[in-house]
Amino acid sequence: MINRTGFFLLLAFGLLLPVRGEAAGDWMEISETETFICRSEVRIGQNELPQLLKTLNDEINQTLELGKNEGLLELYLFKNRRNFVEYVSLRIPEGANRQALYVKGEDRSRVYIYNHSEVRDDIRHECTHAILHQALPYLPLWMDEGLAEYFEVEHRVRSTGNPHLRDIRFAMFFRHKPSLAELEQLNSLGEMDKNDYRDSWAWIHFLMHESQESRQLLLQYLKTIREGEPPGPFSQYLYRAMPNADARLQQHIKTWK
Ligand SMILES: [Zn+2]
Repeated sequence: MINRTGFFLLLAFGLLLPVRGEAAGDWMEISETETFICRSEVRIGQNELPQLLKTLNDEINQTLELGKNEGLLELYLFKNRRNFVEYVSLRIPEGANRQALYVKGEDRSRVYIYNHSEVRDDIRHECTHAILHQALPYLPLWMDEGLAEYFEVEHRVRSTGNPHLRDIRFAMFFRHKPSLAELEQLNSLGEMDKNDYRDSWAWIHFLMHESQESRQLLLQYLKTIREGEPPGPFSQYLYRAMPNADARLQQHIKTWK
């Protein structure tokens, strides 16, 4: 549904009045999917935004066996960084310096993003957080970010085209070993650097693609969380079932096509 009122008023009076001030929050498009209400300051057209979000939601729910979610999430897409900062700083001042933002609200969770050349990756990343937290009462930080990094790449090249694959291979060439125990020590986004994002992604990629066994470990852990049981650290659970997981991760990353 398009916010026609604002659009036509602008057309009718645009020639007579000075250019209208463009305050953040002048939505050009408002659309809704089963899961998201989207408000956008830019015209995405052809229902691209609802379609992207529906595809992402279906993929995440099917891949991770999360089941059906209740409730709606909100996505706010701004036409530029200035409008993003203006809108967000009034509501979540601590989030205004971020590139994009997911906020878990009391009533509803919201994603704030501004338009740029790779905005679709940002949308998939932040909305992955929103979808995961809609379904799960808790998620370890490294797993939350690893999954968001994984799903942010479009489906067609998701398992092969993520820049993290090249970067982790490069790091491993210089004997870097992604440490799950170290990732589990991270408690806030402020503690995470780009290498932590890369390593979190590598563990998620390993769990998703190495074998049925590795994928089942991830799914079983998420199921435990979903059922409301305190799951304990994933590493305990992983190494109990797969004592040589570190060596298998290395092998998986080196040989993945
Ligand atoms: Zn994130």
